[in-house]
Amino acid sequence: MAYHWTLASILSASRVGEKDKRLTLFSRELGKVTAVARGTAVASAKWSTSFEPFSLLYLRLYERSGFFTVVSSEERVVYTGILSSLSKSLKGMAINQLAGCFLEPSSEEPGMFASYVTALSSLNIAANVGEEDRVFLNFSLDILDALGFGLNSLRCERCGEALGDDVFFSTADNAFHCLHCASTGRDILISPELATFLQNRQGSIDEHHVLIGIALALRLLRSAASKLATIQAFEGFAKNAATLFRTNMIENNEESQHEL
Ligand SMILES: [Zn+2]
Repeated sequence: MAYHWTLASILSASRVGEKDKRLTLFSRELGKVTAVARGTAVASAKWSTSFEPFSLLYLRLYERSGFFTVVSSEERVVYTGILSSLSKSLKGMAINQLAGCFLEPSSEEPGMFASYVTALSSLNIAANVGEEDRVFLNFSLDILDALGFGLNSLRCERCGEALGDDVFFSTADNAFHCLHCASTGRDILISPELATFLQNRQGSIDEHHVLIGIALALRLLRSAASKLATIQAFEGFAKNAATLFRTNMIENNEESQHEL
């Protein structure tokens, strides 16, 4: 038996029984944990929060035999900018799903928690759709970094050469290739601006390149998911994300042979 004070965000909430909610929390101190909030599915004076995603809560949790129950809750930040926009809510849900499928249960991830809070607060104040997409791209790249699949030193998957100006992406292998190793007609040449951005987040890329970046990141995340045996959880997220960010363009580009 133990009590925990924690700063946490709700990744997802579902109703259990008549009155209770089961929350999947991303906690700064505990990582991803499931907690039951009793009596929260009905309007009650006891709770000042509705226990829905897109807020940061200061929670007191009671733990017994690995099960958590919410004892008290205080809202710290409510991301009203996300809640009041359909587009932002959908992207926020994609961020929650992405975090949810790669976080290991009860494993503290302070770096990922910081990236996650940055993503939500940036999405909250994003001024247009392009900025919203950029938030998602940055968060996807943060997740790849955190999982050890980061792109900060791109190397050719075939020969191991550090990649310079000519960076090719193979949609067959979901890997980067150099000019010599690229399969003609199958690998896509990545624009230097996008290649630089993917590696060090520097420079500015336009909205079109942000979407290409997301399409590449999703492919790399899929490879990571199959290596980390979380592919089942990933598929649900990937399907939503592909629709949300129109990532089929990369397949269409394959045929037209344009530089991305
Ligand atoms: Zn090579």
